[in-house]
Amino acid sequence: MPIYEYHCPRCGEDFEKLVYGGSAVECPKCQCAKPEKKMSAFGMSGTSEKGGSLASSGSSCAGCTSSCSTCH
Ligand SMILES: [Zn+2]
Repeated sequence: MPIYEYHCPRCGEDFEKLVYGGSAVECPKCQCAKPEKKMSAFGMSGTSEKGGSLASSGSSCAGCTSSCSTCH
């Protein structure tokens, strides 16, 4: 899955977003529609926990409690 990191030039917010195809991305804080895309930092320790929503969606497997690394 393509997870990209964005930086909002308007409010300075850094956030990660799952992006499918050409779907639009906007800043979750100020709704700026032109965030700067950064290179994906997927796998970098700590960054996935910052978002919360990304972490929960990635660990929603029914067979495990905290991580899917043991059941996949
Ligand atoms: Zn913003």
